[in-house]
Amino acid sequence: MMQEKTSTRSNDSQSIHYNKITLRFPQVIEHIFQEEYFKNSIAQLRAALILVTLIYASFSVLDVYSFPQYASDYLRIRFIYVVPFAIGILILSFTKVFRQIWQGLMFTALIVGCCAIGAKSMYHPENQTYFAGIVITLFSGYIFFKLRFVYATLGGWLIVALFNIVAWSNPNISQEVILNNNFFFISANLIGMFAAYYIETHIRRNFYLNQKLDEEKQFIKELNRSLEETVIERTKELTKAKKIAEQNSSNVTAIIEGTTESIWAFDRNFNILYINQTFKCEFFETFGVWLEPGVNLLRSLTPGLLPLWKKRYDRVLNNEQFTVEDVIPTENGKVYIQVAFNPILRNGKVVGGSCFGNNITSRKLAEIELVKAKERAEQSDRLKSAFLANMSHEIRTPMNGILGFSELLKEPNLTGDQQRIYIDLIEKSGHRMLNIINDIVDISKIEAGLIEINIGDVNVNEQLKYVQTFFKPEAEKKDLHLAFINNHVPDEIIIQTDKDKLYAILANLVKNAIKYTTEGTIQLSYKKHQSSIEFTVKDTGIGIPENRLDDIFERFMQAELVNKIAEQGAGLGLSIAKEFTEMLGGRIWVESKKGKGSTFYFTLPCA
Ligand code: ADP
Repeated sequence: MMQEKTSTRSNDSQSIHYNKITLRFPQVIEHIFQEEYFKNSIAQLRAALILVTLIYASFSVLDVYSFPQYASDYLRIRFIYVVPFAIGILILSFTKVFRQIWQGLMFTALIVGCCAIGAKSMYHPENQTYFAGIVITLFSGYIFFKLRFVYATLGGWLIVALFNIVAWSNPNISQEVILNNNFFFISANLIGMFAAYYIETHIRRNFYLNQKLDEEKQFIKELNRSLEETVIERTKELTKAKKIAEQNSSNVTAIIEGTTESIWAFDRNFNILYINQTFKCEFFETFGVWLEPGVNLLRSLTPGLLPLWKKRYDRVLNNEQFTVEDVIPTENGKVYIQVAFNPILRNGKVVGGSCFGNNITSRKLAEIELVKAKERAEQSDRLKSAFLANMSHEIRTPMNGILGFSELLKEPNLTGDQQRIYIDLIEKSGHRMLNIINDIVDISKIEAGLIEINIGDVNVNEQLKYVQTFFKPEAEKKDLHLAFINNHVPDEIIIQTDKDKLYAILANLVKNAIKYTTEGTIQLSYKKHQSSIEFTVKDTGIGIPENRLDDIFERFMQAELVNKIAEQGAGLGLSIAKEFTEMLGGRIWVESKKGKGSTFYFTLPCA
């Protein structure tokens, strides 16, 4: 826009429009020009008037010296008409009206001057001295009086015309004199016209160009002003935008620095462009390297991690957007992270990548826990179903025994032996029922937190001996040998514990040993440690598969769920034993080999 304007204006300034004869500009410019011309001419004009007046007055010497016979007329013309006329113009030049009439006045002065000299020449036409004065006056009109070309030319030719009129009508003037002077006058006019024309043309051209220059200046000034305004406006906008950008930037920085996510960005050479405090700290804690902008990411990675991460960074630089989950082994255990990779694009080209990393360890662990819990729940569900099936079998079998043999007892013709066998079987079934009920009651009590612990003195040897004596008959029924290996005879070992609970633990272990052993020996023993006693129940039974060793202490858990119905038991004995042991401040565990036998251990604290 600016360029367009400038070029239009420079084209204008090249062509000057003025009348080729009068040299006048179009109306408005002409007016300005004349004002300007007057202003520039007035000083010279006054000087010219003074000079011409002085020169003209000084010619009076010539009047007196060369033409004493006409001196009085000459001096009259000189000092009564011409000199006062010139002085009058000079005085007028200081008035306001002069500016409107000065060209006319000077035109008149030219005519008056020439006429005065011409009149003197008429006194002695043969002596042509004074005609030279007309030539001088003509030249003054053209180049000295600041007359415009038109006025000077009109004046010049008017003088020539007047001269010819007067000269041809005067019989005293010879044809030769008239012709001679015409040559001089016409030549003077032509030269004067030529000079005046080109002087005025130049003055006008200068004026016009100055005018255009002023316009251009004004235009440029305006342009500058509007440019300045634009610059100020733009600066304001930019300052505002900068402020907003700064505000946004500080907001973004606050978010990025305030987040617990790790954030970093890198360029195509894998040099860090940006890294937040969280990632700096996490990287330092994990790898002992402090990252900063400018540091090379690849050089900061351990050789083990380098190939994998380089591959990921390369994918981002290939304009891929993706998320990965990773496990990083650290001194404090595994750290699970999730990283989102995003390419950074500028003008459609990938100039780097940005990463948002999240420590998802707690979420991951919760997920793993959840899966485990789900598995446990599923297993517990399976176990409960098995337990129910088992229970119905466990309860029905003795009940059927009791009811069936009670029915048989009603037979009137039973022998004494038969009755005893039936009563025996009813009793056995009753015991079996009682055992199950006891177990269920115990576990319910444990569950409800109703178990009470009664601590008192317990003689270990006595207690173990009692258990051996109690279960011996049951073992012998299966041709098993139940032994109590006493390493501490005759020591009396008394511990502070709950006697009933200790019995329940031992009884459960011995009962299981008898139940799961078909031949061999069952050994009861104990060891004294510094602050605990370690009890052992060892058998040569069926053993427990290695993968079930931990589970059997859980409620309703049985080592072999299949075929379990064949054996007695609800899967509660060991879990009761475990609960009791732990209540008394000890722990229980098992060592076993499938087909070889099992050894159950439990400890109790002792002073
Ligand atoms: P159960 O009533 O089924 O015996 P327990 O809780 O007492 O319940 O035992 C859990 C499971 O542990 C048993 O079902 C059995 O598979 C295994 N078990 C316990 N004691 C022994 C043992 N001495 N020898 C082999 N397996 C055993």
